[in-house]
Amino acid sequence: MPDGAKTMIDPDTMLPGIPQTESPLRVLALANQKGGVGKTTTAINLGTALAAIGENVLVVDLDPQGNASTGLGIDRRTRSRSTYDVLMGEVLLRDAIQATSVPRLHICPATIDLSGFELEISHEKDRAFRLRKALSALNSGLGEGGYTYVLVDCPPSLNLVTVNAMTAADSILVPLQCEFFALEGLSQLLKTIEQVKATLNPGLTIHGIVLTMYDGRNNLAGQVVEDVCGFMGEKVYQTIIPRNVRVSEAPSYGKPVLLYDLKCVGSQAYLRLASEIIQREKRLRAA
Ligand code: ADP
Ligand code: MG
Repeated sequence: MPDGAKTMIDPDTMLPGIPQTESPLRVLALANQKGGVGKTTTAINLGTALAAIGENVLVVDLDPQGNASTGLGIDRRTRSRSTYDVLMGEVLLRDAIQATSVPRLHICPATIDLSGFELEISHEKDRAFRLRKALSALNSGLGEGGYTYVLVDCPPSLNLVTVNAMTAADSILVPLQCEFFALEGLSQLLKTIEQVKATLNPGLTIHGIVLTMYDGRNNLAGQVVEDVCGFMGEKVYQTIIPRNVRVSEAPSYGKPVLLYDLKCVGSQAYLRLASEIIQREKRLRAA
């Protein structure tokens, strides 16, 4: 773990006052400090798939690059209220949320301002709890129409923004790209998750590992799947997201792939992943 992260995960910043209530809202953070592994693509398309099967979904864009916001069709000019303002405590999360072209799918967009968050907030005692606080009021007054899933799209770094996501989350979902170095960095990520669990968020679990960009023509890909399953066992979702050009084309139209081409293998895989996640959720709750 980087030195900076140690001070962020300081038990001294614990806020014992935040209740952990039983609510139907599940907060899943998509985290992996590697860039380009499919975090944002999964946030957009898993979010869409969950909404398509009836869940009320909020995507929280925590990457200053704002790719999830762009991919869901939110113009940069309309991002006057963003996750930065929410984490700084200047705007209520609810007031920063925007609708997308997908029914039941909303987003809190990100702007480049978010890259300054860590420095600006480093002396505040509650610096790791900003997202958790913002989410705690999300469903109040919404009744039956409240959100059931929040997907947090993390930046490619184990910084304070990611720690905020892990502190706010019920579970972590780790996208891993099917490539030679897939497992590299995973132990550091797992260590950070353990540290957040030990200090800031005792209820935190790993929901699962989703293998992305699988290319069956590549001999190595099968070996990578075997290695990851050997290392992470049942945590690996059965659904593997294939490499599919339709998936990579969709964001340039500001659309999830499920709207761009519902029949393509990428869309179908994200629909399967959504139902697998809901099944796993049911088992977790029953346990
Ligand atoms: P991250 O958020 O982890 O940095 P992205 O989701 O932005 O990763 O994905 C990185 C790149 O890979 C993007 O250009 C995206 O369009 C592409 N990509 C992601 N998943 C797939 C896929 N299943 N098939 C083809 N391209 C993909
Ligand atoms: Mg991303």
